[in-house]
This record gives sequence, structure tokens and C-alpha cells, in this order.
Amino acid sequence: MSVSRRDFVERAALLAAAGFVPRPFPPAAAPAPRPAGFRGRPVVVASANGLRGVQVAYDRILAGEDPLDAVIAGVNIQELDPDDQSVGLGGLPNEEGVVQLDASCMHGPTKRAGAVASLEGIATPSLVAKAVMDYTDHVMLVGPGAGKFARAMGFKEQNLLTEKSRQDWMRWKARLNPNDFWLDHDDDLKIKFTTGTINMNAVTAAGDVASVTTTSGMAYKIPGRIGDSPIVGAGQYCDNLVGAAGSTGRGEANIKTCASFLAVEFMRQGLAPRDALLRTLERVVAMTEPRLLRPDGRPKFDLEFYAIAKDGRYAGATLYAGGRFAVCDERGARLEEAAHLFPR
Ligand code: ASP
Repeated sequence: MSVSRRDFVERAALLAAAGFVPRPFPPAAAPAPRPAGFRGRPVVVASANGLRGVQVAYDRILAGEDPLDAVIAGVNIQELDPDDQSVGLGGLPNEEGVVQLDASCMHGPTKRAGAVASLEGIATPSLVAKAVMDYTDHVMLVGPGAGKFARAMGFKEQNLLTEKSRQDWMRWKARLNPNDFWLDHDDDLKIKFTTGTINMNAVTAAGDVASVTTTSGMAYKIPGRIGDSPIVGAGQYCDNLVGAAGSTGRGEANIKTCASFLAVEFMRQGLAPRDALLRTLERVVAMTEPRLLRPDGRPKFDLEFYAIAKDGRYAGATLYAGGRFAVCDERGARLEEAAHLFPR
């Protein structure tokens, strides 16, 4: 359908009268392909729990390691840390007390991706996701099939439920009451440990990009619940021409907006990482169902995004003020304040 200039101007006036003022949008411009050996700036960004990991990943990149191997080494630190209850060993279990892990990764230079979901008994789902990418013709394996594949690839099985996580699960079970209902979890959105994940993204001096996200998912989830982390385009996404993005927080909100893909697409259209992430958060808000909105129209949950552009620019952004994210570049590893849409 063609729209005359007059129609367009009249519609814009109507929208403005209704209080809708679109943000200015830069013209779409595909970034020029970089020549081989492009000397950009190596940078690693991650969720705040990746502070130790970004340094490890950055050092490996400087040593010439592949960016995906580097970020996976970075997130392995949290996966293997029994005190981090949001990922890998020690992650909080599902409602039956079983730790089920999700992860996905993407490798810009080879345009490949791998993922596992509802994986049990293997502490490093990020490495299993990479094995799916490296050794199969598939992108995603779930549940018992993922476990069987991991064992066949030589991953060692172990009990992932630490005593601390078992105690927390028991406490959660004890406070259940017969009237509880799965949708009825306003308070649960605020209780500690409902969420937690690590996402890490890197770019090398040659402009090669990689991303990985790994999690034990929403605590006390229904067995088999899969979050955003293992979904390519939601939990993380990377495109070697543009950059990478990833997420932590309420996965259900992220899946519906394909938000990491969207953030990379906004960067492709010319937005800086910070603006791309804020624009993505606006979409998340627009796609939030009414039961999850506060009386002021803002979401009851939080969601965090992290992004790097191929040229080394980076950002973190959250719905609510106060979020921080980890970054490592030539100035060393540190936490920085994330951009936000709303005050807390
Ligand atoms: N995004 C994860 C999930 O929904 C949880 C989190 O990051 O807090 O599974």
C-alpha cells in the first residue's frame, strides 16, 4: 500500500497528538566489511558476575586465542564455582530439586552456533553447547539427549546440587502453600535467587566476535522449563559484521522479543551499543503482558543486556537504574554502571 506524503504527515500529527513521539532513528547503514587483520580494540563485556571471567577471556584473546574459547573459559569460572547459585555446579534446582542447565554460544567468524537445554549432571553446559556446535550438524540438544551426547563427548557426570542449594530449595518448598499457583508469583519475582546467569561477549583486535550465555535458569522452575539463555537470538547473538549481545534476567520476557538478535540488528542499523540496548528494552516493555506490569505501567521484573560492537564500543543496560556490568579492555577488568530506562 502506498502512502502519500500528505497521509504520512497527517498520521504523524495524529500520533503526536496522542502523545506518541518516536525517537529519531538514524538511517539504516550496513557497516562496511572490515579488511582481514583489522586492528580494532579487543574488549570483553559480561554480566557483573563475570568480573573474574572478563579478565581471563581478555588475557586469552591477547594471547591469540579464539574469542569463543576465550569467553567460554571466562564463564567456566562461574560454572565451576559452587558458591555461584545461578550457574553450573551449585546452581539452584528446579521444583523437584534437580539442577537443569541451559547454555548457548555463537562464533562470529564461522557463523556457527550451539546450544543445550535442560542438561543434567554436567557442570559446564557452555562447553557442551560448543561441542554441539563443533561436532554435530545441529544447533540445539535438550534433556536426556543432550546428556547422552555430553557423556559420549567425554564430559564427566557429577552431582550438581550443593548442600547450600539443597537447603535453599528445601526452604522454598517449606513455604509453598496449597493455594499457590504457577502464575501467581508477584512476590516470587522479587525473592532472591529467582534469576541469575552469566553472559559474556568478546571482540578481538581483528574484529572477530563471539558470545556465550550459561545458566541454571529460573530457580525452582517447572522441570523442563527452558529460559532464554540457550535460545540463539534471545540469550545471546553475534554477527561478525556487527557485534554481539546477550542477556540475563527474566528469560520469558527476553524470548518473546528475540532481544539479543534485536539489539544486534539495531547496531547493524547504525545505533551505538548503548542506544541499541535501550531501544531493545523499550521493545521488552512494549511486549510485557499486563499481569507483569506495575500500576505505573512499568515491568515488575528486571532484564539486563550487554553488547559489544565490532569496533570495540560496548554497553550494558537494564530496565531499572543501579545495574552494573563487567568489562575488560586495555584499562583492565572493572564494573561499570549500566544505562537504564527507569529510575529504581
Ligand atoms: N535468563 C535466565 C533464565 O530465564 C535467568 C536469569 O538470567 O536470571 O533462565
